Amino acid sequence: MPRPLAVTAVLAFALAPRPAVAQGAAGDYLTRYHELVDVAPTNQVIAVHHLVLTRDAGELTLESGSLYPLAAVGGHTAGAVFRGAGRFVLKPALPTEQVELRRYAGDTVLDDSVSEAVLIFADTTGDQLAALSASAGPVPDDVAGVARDALKTLAGKNEGSFDWGVMWTFLNGDRTGLFVARLKLVKHGDALFEIDPSSTESVELFKPAHRTEFGVHWSLVTQFPARGAVATTEQPPRLDVPHYVLDANLKETFTADLDLSATAALSLRADTAVGPWLPFELQYKILVDSGHWQDGTPVRTFKAKDSGLLWVRAPRRLAAGDSLTLTLSYHANHPDLIDRSSEWFFIEPGVAWYPENLLGSGNATFDVTYHTPHQYTFASVGQRTDSTLTGKVVTTHWVIDRPTPWATFNLGIFENHHVDDPDRTLDVMLSEEAHRAIADEVRSLGFYLPQQSHMVENVSADVSNSLRFYSALFGPPPMRHFYVTEIPYGEGVSFQGFIDLSASTFHFSELDGFDEWFRAHEVAHQWWGNGVQPATYRDQWLGEGFASFSALWYLAAERRHSDEYFKFLDQYRDDIKGEANDVGPIWVGYRSSTFAVPQGAQTMVYEKGAWILHMLRIMMLDVKTMNEDRFTATLKDYYQTYAGRTVTTGDFAGVVERHAGIPMDWFFDEWVKGTTIPTYHVAWTNQPGDNGNTVIKFRITQEHVGPDFEMPVLIAADLGDNRIAHFRLMVKGTKTDYVSPPLPAGAKKVTFNDLHSTLCDVKMESW
Ligand SMILES: [Zn+2]
Repeated sequence: MPRPLAVTAVLAFALAPRPAVAQGAAGDYLTRYHELVDVAPTNQVIAVHHLVLTRDAGELTLESGSLYPLAAVGGHTAGAVFRGAGRFVLKPALPTEQVELRRYAGDTVLDDSVSEAVLIFADTTGDQLAALSASAGPVPDDVAGVARDALKTLAGKNEGSFDWGVMWTFLNGDRTGLFVARLKLVKHGDALFEIDPSSTESVELFKPAHRTEFGVHWSLVTQFPARGAVATTEQPPRLDVPHYVLDANLKETFTADLDLSATAALSLRADTAVGPWLPFELQYKILVDSGHWQDGTPVRTFKAKDSGLLWVRAPRRLAAGDSLTLTLSYHANHPDLIDRSSEWFFIEPGVAWYPENLLGSGNATFDVTYHTPHQYTFASVGQRTDSTLTGKVVTTHWVIDRPTPWATFNLGIFENHHVDDPDRTLDVMLSEEAHRAIADEVRSLGFYLPQQSHMVENVSADVSNSLRFYSALFGPPPMRHFYVTEIPYGEGVSFQGFIDLSASTFHFSELDGFDEWFRAHEVAHQWWGNGVQPATYRDQWLGEGFASFSALWYLAAERRHSDEYFKFLDQYRDDIKGEANDVGPIWVGYRSSTFAVPQGAQTMVYEKGAWILHMLRIMMLDVKTMNEDRFTATLKDYYQTYAGRTVTTGDFAGVVERHAGIPMDWFFDEWVKGTTIPTYHVAWTNQPGDNGNTVIKFRITQEHVGPDFEMPVLIAADLGDNRIAHFRLMVKGTKTDYVSPPLPAGAKKVTFNDLHSTLCDVKMESW
């Protein structure tokens, strides 16, 4: 667990002497890489009897057999191969991860026999082995091959490409606590158990990836933090890059694609002792030309062919509090980085076109200068401070002074439509010509592609109206000016004050409301994702689920009825039910997408995430007056409390509890951390009550959920003469008997689960 950042930095700076290069740190990347991947056995053999290696929730017992130590890497014994009889037991502490493990192992605990293990480590394992008596050989011929095969599963296809968490340890020669065991399990086959200190959730178990998952050897089964609660940051902060100065030159090629050459100056600040080798992400086609530190010393870097990982060697191991400026020059030639398509360019919205920090949060301020061909309309995240034309090149300068994880841009043969509102301005950039060309081409093939006549107006209206709608509900967004640009992709991406929308939503609006929803979803990310940032992958739904729900809310407001709102919720429910048994809960985020269910995360994080907010909305509704102030006040309070900060699911739950006035952990446990969905079998009957009143008796059986699963379900009873009685009924456990409040008349009809109050199945039965 990382300690509080400021305290660490200040104390360590004052007290720690500046360390020289760490013992065993690599001078040259490839030398150390080959030491690791080509590692060979020594001539030593250790006869083992009941050697127990307990690594957090995993326990590897080498009962009897032989252990063959591998040659040292960076001066330390870093591996061994075991042959014999052993046992591996893994017991995750988190209930959610027990369920994930059960999907793989058939049980919430993995307990299997081991016949072979390849161990790679930078922890106390070396000490444990050193305490055992070793003797000289013989070492079976195939031990070397077994070790290399295991290491190969952590390597990419080109020389130097390797799992960065493992390589990071060996490059820096640290005793980080790294422990990797490639196990041959008797029942479950190959598995990889890892304590990976580069990850906040450092305890990991992998199974072999499906063969068609190209280039990936392992697929995650379960992951959780070492001995503790789930972290509240994505990365244990080690290095901060608070500011970038970028200078990017986009130059037209003879085929009208674009080449990129750029210089990036990164302010680096060590939060803890770190390095000297520092990992960054940089798009796989980008090549680094040169670099230097602030004193002019050249920078040593390594980037494997076609790898998105850039290694930079600092002049020394950095002590906490150290600051340095790193300047790198790099380039990418087409194809693959920026190809032209009709009047657009393919600029992958999330592409790492400058070095992105892998050891910290990624939030930074930016100062960016772009040089672009004059015929293209250009926009960037940030505020443009000036623009000059020299020959055929436009140079613009942009400032991003509110920290954000991403700086991006777009350009094309665009018309720019300026929309002025008192509270906000939009610049909507699209190419009418490109849409005409597509329509013509499709027509020439004998088909008809519908195209809306008011592309700009329709898209701008939804962007503008949803901005206004959300501002009123949640409070004003951080930005007042927005670029809305079209991209030749089937997706949208929302950056701070900069919204990329798929060209298809400009071309055509689906009648079912999808396009209004889609535009409003991207706009909602200005609040959910950019305004408040989900802290970890487990909290992804605080961005996507919130954006999807907000967009449904907008759709209902815009159409002045809720038909589509409920139709989308119905469709989401069918998706969620269809996949509930095959994917993990919302709480495992992107991990819900697997080879078997690639859309799993979409269904859970976006769709079930939206359902959670809808359920809270109905739970907080005043059923007598249909007033929903309590729910809107909750979202407004949540947004305004956490704007500009990172948020966890617990933070949101805390705000909900404050407004609901009751503990809500049961609700988040059921819906965020669980996957089950109840089926209710419902029977009801009218019965005479006291004083001439009538009551409705209910008998409910609940299925498909645990015995403690509970939810308040909204009932609408139609009493005739336009009288509808609303009340809530708490369903808990297998059987619930309930008697309604006294009613002036018997019910002619009962709607159980009115307004979709609960994500469930309802089966009405006769009394
Ligand atoms: Zn989204």
